[in-house]
Amino acid sequence: FNVPTPLNEPVKGYAPDSPERLELVKMLKELKRQERDIPMHIGGQEVRTGRRLPLHPPHDHQHVLAHFHEGDAGHVTQAIDAALAARPAWAALPWEHRAAIFLKAADLLAGPYRARLNAATMLGQSKNAFQAEIDAACELIDFFRFNVAFMQELYGQQPISSPGIWNRLEHRPLEGFVFALTPFNFTSIAGNLPTSAALMGNVVVWKPAYPQIYSAQVLMELFKEAGLPDGVINLIYVDGPVAGDVIFKHRDFAGIHFTGSTKVFQTIWQEIGQNISRYKSYPRIVGETGGKDFILAHPSAHAKAVATAITRGAFEYQGQKCSAASRVYLPSNLADEILGYVKEDLATVKMGDVEDFGNFVNAVITEVSFDKLARYIDGAHADPDAEVVAGGTYDKTKGYFVAPTVIVARDPKYVTMCDELFGPVVTVHVYDAEQFEATLDLVDGTSPYALTGAVFAQDRYAIDLASQRLVNAAGNFYINDKPTGAVVGQQPFGGARASGTNDKAGSILNLLRWVSPRAIKETF
Ligand code: NAD
Repeated sequence: FNVPTPLNEPVKGYAPDSPERLELVKMLKELKRQERDIPMHIGGQEVRTGRRLPLHPPHDHQHVLAHFHEGDAGHVTQAIDAALAARPAWAALPWEHRAAIFLKAADLLAGPYRARLNAATMLGQSKNAFQAEIDAACELIDFFRFNVAFMQELYGQQPISSPGIWNRLEHRPLEGFVFALTPFNFTSIAGNLPTSAALMGNVVVWKPAYPQIYSAQVLMELFKEAGLPDGVINLIYVDGPVAGDVIFKHRDFAGIHFTGSTKVFQTIWQEIGQNISRYKSYPRIVGETGGKDFILAHPSAHAKAVATAITRGAFEYQGQKCSAASRVYLPSNLADEILGYVKEDLATVKMGDVEDFGNFVNAVITEVSFDKLARYIDGAHADPDAEVVAGGTYDKTKGYFVAPTVIVARDPKYVTMCDELFGPVVTVHVYDAEQFEATLDLVDGTSPYALTGAVFAQDRYAIDLASQRLVNAAGNFYINDKPTGAVVGQQPFGGARASGTNDKAGSILNLLRWVSPRAIKETF
């Protein structure tokens, strides 16, 4: 049995009057008309708690999209029990059947579910159609298909045997349950974290970030239709610390698959450490966390290419990609030209809701995020050492809108060069074009993070020097390209240092974390 060789799902263009545009517009209207009641899913049952909380589109915060049922600690225990009850049958199921479920999920998402998951992502997370397409559709389809192929490859990795001795590795699932704790910003990540563990035979309790619940619900329907048995993935809507308190004290807690902020991950790691003697096995701790991603231009860089990388790399999805460029180092010989192009670009981009396909920028995710960004922008306006050269405005009357903002900071350690803002704000430092080498040290030493980074140069020696000196500064390193847009199977994704455990989502390395191999020696 050979699984199909995966190919990346082609991105649809959504040109005016294209069939995909018409279908998506229809779906957006349909979803907006309904006011859905969203239950949790535990052991295959829909669980309604009576504690109903509203979900609003970030670009239209007075509109109620849906209500979801929030659970409490008791529901977390129920979800763990349901997962453990499903475990024996799921772990014993031959892997080909697990592969078939997720290959079917990929096909359903490429076909009938595409418009619905994209529309839910657009409305719930304020992502425009193009950003939703590369996330909720293409990337998640790729995760399913490539992970199945990686699973087969992993199972095929067997030790050598000799006459009279047969050695083999049995890639058992972890003994217990896996906790998938997912962020708001990518539907594909929210979909990948529970399913990659489940694919390897594990049972899962999944808690999404609240702003992603609207699309999480569609994902759960997709898994069910693809044939995922009850109890393998249990979806709960419970406050993070409440869920963590039950899960991290549980004897059968076998691992966490996390994506989110560094602070939360560190808190979780501490909690796991405090409870370490309770567990049957040492839990797998896999986390992709924050970033302060850079673009560094060498004096030989192509100015227009750098400008495009800034506009797209810093502002697509309102800068709320973990990989988004947020600190930029420009050489004095090119800075004016590059910033001129960026300003020209930004003068043409439109900001607004997701239903107008011409809007490049939509709303930031929550009021908390909006207020945080507004504080940093106000700080830059008031600081004589910083100059706001584009954007710098915000308005939350209808939605949480923050204009794409470019700050030029004299001090390379200016606060917005260091803190993760997670929004459409990029800070530029102009360095003396003679000081490229010293700037490499600055790039490497300014931030505790090491997620993504990009270097622009036409000079080969400069590219080589930057690659060597920034060897630990980014888990995903780009040469003459923006630091966002990693593609499954092409650029396995993940960062080191404070950016995560670097287990590369969508790779064999990641799947290895969800198995506990048993080495078997048999003599004849
Ligand atoms: P977050 O850390 O606020 O939340 C992530 C998840 O943890 C959510 O489900 C949340 O409810 C839960 N949570 C929060 N506090 C908790 C606690 N004390 N105990 C248990 N659970 C808790 O992150 P977010 O705002 O949803 O996402 C944005 C962050 O994610 C950014 O920092 C971004 O850089 C990071 N991110 C990283 C990557 C990557 O691949 N490195 C990818 C996407 C996002």
